[in-house]
Amino acid sequence: MAFCNSCGASLVQGTRFCSKCGATIISSSPAAPSAASATGTVVSPPVAAPPPAQSSGGGALKAILIVVAVIALRQQETRLIEKAEIVLADANSSGTRS
Ligand SMILES: [Zn+2]
Repeated sequence: MAFCNSCGASLVQGTRFCSKCGATIISSSPAAPSAASATGTVVSPPVAAPPPAQSSGGGALKAILIVVAVIALRQQETRLIEKAEIVLADANSSGTRS
């Protein structure tokens, strides 16, 4: 059973207008006209993102990942420095040779 949003009168299912006050009926039934959506159907609020479930386990894992990333970056850095030193040494040796 539907009710008028304006006057609260009981309405026959599928009617578009209130027989008492003549207000447009916003019905959730599938038979409702498309105009109902234009007048404003009830839209469910956006679902809020769930809070982080595991605070301790996730944090520890994150810290480990950060440490590993930092170590990897430092290893790359040292490798680059070693390479640069080798290149410089080669340049020096070749320069002295010729
Ligand atoms: Zn009414």
